[in-house]
Amino acid sequence: MNKGKLIVFSAPSGSGKTTIVRHLLGKEDLNLEFSISAASRDPRGEEEHGKDYYFISLEQFKKHIKAEEFLEWEEVYRDNFYGTLKSEIERIWALGKNVIFDIDVAGGLRIKHKFPEQTLAVFVKPPSVDELKRRLKQRSTETDDKINMRIAKASVELATAPQFDTIIKNYDLDTAKEEAYQLVKDFVNKD
Ligand code: 5GP
Repeated sequence: MNKGKLIVFSAPSGSGKTTIVRHLLGKEDLNLEFSISAASRDPRGEEEHGKDYYFISLEQFKKHIKAEEFLEWEEVYRDNFYGTLKSEIERIWALGKNVIFDIDVAGGLRIKHKFPEQTLAVFVKPPSVDELKRRLKQRSTETDDKINMRIAKASVELATAPQFDTIIKNYDLDTAKEEAYQLVKDFVNKD
């Protein structure tokens, strides 16, 4: 199988990484396919099964863990499990494409350690924790409790930034998108 490159985007929730990943997916020259994670949480807003996530029950999730079917998985928030199925990466490689991930920092670093040469691990940094808070509230798809849980986790996640190959500061979205495009383009075109 022709093994494509792995592009990991990790960041605290609300940093804008999902927007940047979507932007890159629209660039045909990068030959990217989104790694659809399995998640044990309920769909939010317009999210669709098999497009944004494979939404599965906690019980099903635990079965996949036991069967060692995950490349990596994390209990990102209490009782909310997320993971990358090995079969997902194989699906994308079989298409002859590079894989792009939108996953949490621990999962992102795990992929980098498993495939050090093939992976570009990018950390997206928000301007500040206050700005993160504002963005999450504006999104208003979640309860205050859930938002506070995401903010508490963000400070811990920010501390892992130096372990990534590169950091993109998302102070201005258009600049961050362009920077991300250039970085990924150089990486996928490199031997
Ligand atoms: P959300 O609930 O906002 O969609 O995602 C919560 C967090 O879980 C985000 O940081 C997201 O990137 C991360 N996440 C999504 N899929 C995966 C995955 O497969 N593995 C890991 N480790 N984290 C994931």
